[in-house]
Amino acid sequence: MDELSCKLLVIGAGPGGYACAIRAGQLGIDTIVVEAQKPGGTCLNIGCIPSKALIHAADAYETVACAAEGKSALGISAAKPSLDFARTIAWKDDIVRRLNGGVAGLLKRAGVRSVAGRASFHDGKTVEVRMANGIQLIHAEAIVIATGALPIELPSLPFGGRVISSTEALALAEVPKRLVVVGGGYIGLELGTAFAKFGAAVTVVEAAPRILPQYDGEISEPVARRLRALGVTVLTSAKAKALAAGGAGLEVETGDGGQATLEADNILVTVGRKPATSGFGLELLDLDMDGPFIRIDDRCRTSMRGVFAIGDVTGEPMLAHRAMAQGEMVAEIIAGHRRAWDRVSIPAICFTDPEIVTVGLSPSEASRTGFSIKTDLFPFKANGRALTLDREDGFIRTVARADNHVLLGIQGVGAGIAELSAAFSLALEMGARLEDIAATIHAHPTQSEGFHEAALRSLGHAIHI
Ligand code: FAD
Ligand code: NAD
Repeated sequence: MDELSCKLLVIGAGPGGYACAIRAGQLGIDTIVVEAQKPGGTCLNIGCIPSKALIHAADAYETVACAAEGKSALGISAAKPSLDFARTIAWKDDIVRRLNGGVAGLLKRAGVRSVAGRASFHDGKTVEVRMANGIQLIHAEAIVIATGALPIELPSLPFGGRVISSTEALALAEVPKRLVVVGGGYIGLELGTAFAKFGAAVTVVEAAPRILPQYDGEISEPVARRLRALGVTVLTSAKAKALAAGGAGLEVETGDGGQATLEADNILVTVGRKPATSGFGLELLDLDMDGPFIRIDDRCRTSMRGVFAIGDVTGEPMLAHRAMAQGEMVAEIIAGHRRAWDRVSIPAICFTDPEIVTVGLSPSEASRTGFSIKTDLFPFKANGRALTLDREDGFIRTVARADNHVLLGIQGVGAGIAELSAAFSLALEMGARLEDIAATIHAHPTQSEGFHEAALRSLGHAIHI
């Protein structure tokens, strides 16, 4: 058996693992990263990037389809579009391929050694990697577990055949005529909306009383409205039971206690993701757990000295940028820097239509801190830029302490507002007050003026409402 030694071994080259390895390499740490599949992990290969590519393609298709149906308010008409979905998928795959190469190149440039294969623990300092051409033993002074998460399977609807996870949904050969989506959260609604725009008849089955139950109703309502406009059927308080006899549909218990059978070419199950903690000898380390996740402290240290964990395997929010920030921090800690997790907030964006951006605390979360709060919103229907985009749905909302006006949270819903997340995050991270936002000139005409106006409104002197 071949043997290698290093100072740092990273298991998993997703956003957490590759960011950790690159930063470690930059800091001169002798680093090996082991990846069982492709560099970039879930996010780059079967998550963030391919889903956003399909969402963009679906938007473009739907714009032309609307024009062809004479529904363009802009006066544009077009011939009925056709879709070469194989080409759409090939375009998406090419983006993924280029980024795969990019991550591999960045690792190499940072001096990180990459080993392709599946790692499993022998003990807290030794890992065995099963490669295509044999087995490699790796000894390390420190190990970072960055193994990510996997889709949750419903026992009554195991994956296979028509029942698919997001991974298969991102690689379908054709747009399904009828798509049933079980779970109206992030993935179900991002992909369900995209397939509806590509022309599928989409039904969303959500167990909670409303879609996107992780957000408050004020935020989810513009998305629900747009889903209705796109012809998506949404069944709330509904539970998927099992495949219908013959396998061509889904038995559902509806909110009123009734039963329904939904015909489907594909059933996309998106009811959450679970940490990847089994099948690689983790039990040999006997780490403290936090429910199904690996328990970590504010330095991403596990209960075993020299073993760190980052990213989805450590819990919510399961977001790529959290994993990356943890990865960079751990590399610096291993290099001897004094670092701890001190971020004010982790932004979250749901790439639905309209998009949702949340940073910090919602009004109800902020109220639970014990501070009295001020919360105000500015609707996009009063924003010139939103009107010129023919998208006046949504708003920007600020949540601030009533006594000193320090911002505690910022939320927005609006077409294409994902990029505003940077302004929101910066404001929170720098401890901005409503007065700071009010005193900042926001360029006109932009949707960002909604942020300015929400702050002005909270101070009692909005200009445009
Ligand atoms: P992962 O990216 O899951 O990487 C873990 C890696 O470890 C994998 O490559 C895996 O092959 C490897 N691995 C596991 N076990 C072993 C082993 N024993 N040996 C060797 N290698 C191993 N997040 C966002 O922030 N924005 C989005 O827009 C977004 N969209 C998403 C869309 C979809 C459809 C999905 C499924 C997820 C999305 N996410 C999004 C979530 C995001 O993908 C994850 O939060 C992120 O990938 C977590 O990074 P990670 O490094 O913890 O794990
Ligand atoms: P989710 O937690 O966002 O949504 C799951 C939904 O399924 C919930 O609304 C839940 O009430 C519902 N549900 C659960 N069991 C059900 C059942 N039996 N029948 C019907 N509905 C049921 O999970 P997800 O959409 O699978 O996404 C997983 C994670 O991936 C997210 O939490 C997020 O961290 C990450 N993600 C992020 C992005 C992004 O940042 N834009 C995009 C996709 C995924």
